[in-house]
Amino acid sequence: MTSSLRSLPSIDKLTSDPRISTLPGVSHSTTVSLAQQCLEKIRADISKGQDCPTFDDIVSEIQAQAQYLGRVGPAPVLNATGIILHTNLGRTPVSREAASAMLLAATEATNLEFELDTGHRGSRQFHIQPLLCQISGAETGMAVNNNASGVLLALAALARGKEVIISRGELVEIGGGFRIPDIIKQSRAKLVEVGTTNRTYLSDYEQAITPKTVALLKVHSSNFDMVGFTHEVSLNDMVHLSQQHSLLTFHDLGSGCLLDTTKFGLAYEPLVQESISSGVDLAFFSGDKLLGGPQAGIIVGRKSLMDRIAKYPLARSVRIDKIRLAGLAATLQHYIKGEVTDRIPVWQMIATPVKDIERRASRIAESLKGSAEIMDGESMVGGGSLPMSTLPTKLIAIPAKGKAAKIAQELREHYPPVVVRVNKGMVLLDLRSIAPANDDTIGKAVIQAVAKHIK
Ligand SMILES: *Cc1c(COP(=O)(O)O)cnc(C)c1O
Repeated sequence: MTSSLRSLPSIDKLTSDPRISTLPGVSHSTTVSLAQQCLEKIRADISKGQDCPTFDDIVSEIQAQAQYLGRVGPAPVLNATGIILHTNLGRTPVSREAASAMLLAATEATNLEFELDTGHRGSRQFHIQPLLCQISGAETGMAVNNNASGVLLALAALARGKEVIISRGELVEIGGGFRIPDIIKQSRAKLVEVGTTNRTYLSDYEQAITPKTVALLKVHSSNFDMVGFTHEVSLNDMVHLSQQHSLLTFHDLGSGCLLDTTKFGLAYEPLVQESISSGVDLAFFSGDKLLGGPQAGIIVGRKSLMDRIAKYPLARSVRIDKIRLAGLAATLQHYIKGEVTDRIPVWQMIATPVKDIERRASRIAESLKGSAEIMDGESMVGGGSLPMSTLPTKLIAIPAKGKAAKIAQELREHYPPVVVRVNKGMVLLDLRSIAPANDDTIGKAVIQAVAKHIK
């Protein structure tokens, strides 16, 4: 063991080797630190009885580490899964206008918290408040980091130490192992669960009201659908009951849909405007689901409540940053201008006629000369929205026998990576979740991958 340790090269010898001293993409001090970490690990391995690697092996290991460090970070991928709001692929891309607004906000000084007419300090919320009021019909609105933090903040500010009543049918797990009830507990509001998983009645809420109750909470079961022997209390009835008992009604909508989804052949998704018009005191939704903007949590509702929320200390911990605020404002402008389905990618994708998808898919399938066919399929909205509702689509289907997983992997290793579906030995690509400008890139990637693994 000691002889092994003695054969370890010195840091100086390693870092003066030309293959290491000129590592592209990392600084000299990063190189020295990588060499030290590498030697430490080898020392630990040797003390466990392993042999000392050769000098060349150590050099390659440091090169590999440097290469990895020099390129690690999120990078664009092409989402050919047909799942429009794919949470693991970053939910929704934003419009060109939102992206430009974010670039400007990131690279220039902005009037983020500065009133140009008075020269005094302003609130960052003023940039989106009028837009949120206009599109939702609410008295006021604010944006925070994400929807979960909006719900947490509001409950901490308004219901800490008090009781909030929720139906057992709405104790939703939103993904990544995170559950709404656990998030609510962090606010120190006491969650009072009523009803059963499949059936909750107005009387269940009514019987649970105590002097400590402040609010009834409705959570949209956005990522699952209950069918069969079910009963859920309507928002109108909840609001009515709340008002009779001088309580508040909160509504976590999840997606934040502002357009009628049934016009696009999808199932009904609750609308923010309807939530407000039915008298809910506060409604909560995400910026990066069906709204189609950057990650954000949006709260709309009564001004008297929002003032308390905005002053609550946690508001500072979950505030929205200047870049996403700019992207959100630009996204909301599309709603004001009535150009949502022309400008916002998630709605462009939803609105794409199946004929257009078929034409694009056929072009790629033809270039594959017999290795691919066009197949009927279904696209999904995803992102915890409209779980049971799909849109008809045309898939590029590549029958690959035992090679489907290999081809899918090859496509993931392509630059830019292409993410596809694999089903019953077939590689499936759905262009609904792809911007048409990327069709050629996808076509070339698929031709390459198929040529390598089929025939
Ligand atoms: C998605 C979702 C959330 C979480 O939203 P984030 O913006 O990801 O924090 C909360 N509640 C419901 C009902 C949801 O669907």
